[in-house]
Amino acid sequence: MTALTRETIIERDANDPLARMRERFDLPDGMIYLDGNSLGALPHDTKDRIRQLIEDQWGLDLIKSWNVHDWYHMPLRCGAKLAPLVGAKANEVVCADSTSVNLFKLLAAALANRPDRKVIVSERGNFPTDLYIAEGLTGLLDKGHEIRLIDDDSELADAIRDDVAVVMLTHVDYRSGRMHDMEAVTKQAHDAGALMLWDLAHSAGAVPLDLDGAGADLAVGCGYKYLNGGPGAPAFLFVAERLQDSIRPPLSGWMSHSAPFDFDWKYAPAEGIARNLCGTPPLLSLAALEASLDTMADVDMALVREKSLALGDLFITLVESRCAGHGFTLVSPRDATRASQVSFAHPDGYPIMQALIAGHVVGDFRAPDILRFGFTPLYTRYVDVWDAVDVLHGIMESGSWDQPVFHERAAVT
Ligand SMILES: *Cc1c(COP(=O)(O)O)cnc(C)c1O
Repeated sequence: MTALTRETIIERDANDPLARMRERFDLPDGMIYLDGNSLGALPHDTKDRIRQLIEDQWGLDLIKSWNVHDWYHMPLRCGAKLAPLVGAKANEVVCADSTSVNLFKLLAAALANRPDRKVIVSERGNFPTDLYIAEGLTGLLDKGHEIRLIDDDSELADAIRDDVAVVMLTHVDYRSGRMHDMEAVTKQAHDAGALMLWDLAHSAGAVPLDLDGAGADLAVGCGYKYLNGGPGAPAFLFVAERLQDSIRPPLSGWMSHSAPFDFDWKYAPAEGIARNLCGTPPLLSLAALEASLDTMADVDMALVREKSLALGDLFITLVESRCAGHGFTLVSPRDATRASQVSFAHPDGYPIMQALIAGHVVGDFRAPDILRFGFTPLYTRYVDVWDAVDVLHGIMESGSWDQPVFHERAAVT
């Protein structure tokens, strides 16, 4: 193996087949951005697309735009563009609402689909909104549903019994970056007669996915993380084609109707994936998401995956060698069950992350003690990894992280 120096690392960037992708994004000078897993960077084309929608379409064509600029089909069109990134057919994905709202819709649909079963299986370590939504929904239904939480994968087989309606898991753990085996777990759910609902918040755009190949039933995911759709971007949802007509939308807004512009007083759900829409979509936000999906359209996810693991491996090697003895414990897998982030636990994680951010290395902190670094192969370079660890090393050696200002908690961590 070649020695690790800044020079050999720069050579890796020169040989990186994805290097040119970075030019398609706006990144502030001097900032090393390792938080694309929370809020993806801004694609150049997004600004122009938003300007067009505001000035040329809204400004000039006003309401005619629904037809002449085809605003009406934007949620379905974005879904079709997103579908290849998650291994789905174009008619199985739609972009709408937030991840939380989509979870509510699909979880409700799943429970209605398995009326004789009363259990939702999930993980205690799941992202909190997923569990909050399940709790809110079961309370609303008031039909004696139970949420059965596991603490470890080894408990999964025992938890998925014949009383389970749906297994709801997040594919990539938001703290550790550990990835479930989608195909194996989906099979476990199906063998017990349950439906499988995947949350792809930290997977879509980060790792190659094959929802159809794995036989998944339902999925949701986030537009503003690795999909770079912009702050608060619309989320997406997936319903396998074979299930689409047996899903009864719990939020039966007019955009889910078979003929919204008939203005019939009686509800009739649309055919196919469209019945999972609810109301009028946020066009500005959708336009930003669409611009980003177009930016990513020709990206080879196998190359993304390969580089993402290489960036993460390099980061782990450098932190463990250069910051040895400073109390960092790796909490992400070392092997290929790691998705596109690397997390280290440290008892002083919060002030250390604040000191890093002040040093222009942006990651984030997740309670209680996790420093989280997202690697986004489309715009993160190998040299960024080297420089980030250099800053971390400086902060730890000098003890500069331990200043009162870095201990103050902000509203968003
Ligand atoms: C980020 C994330 C969400 C976000 O949900 P919002 O409704 O967009 O706030 C949901 N689930 C998981 C697993 C996440 O990581």
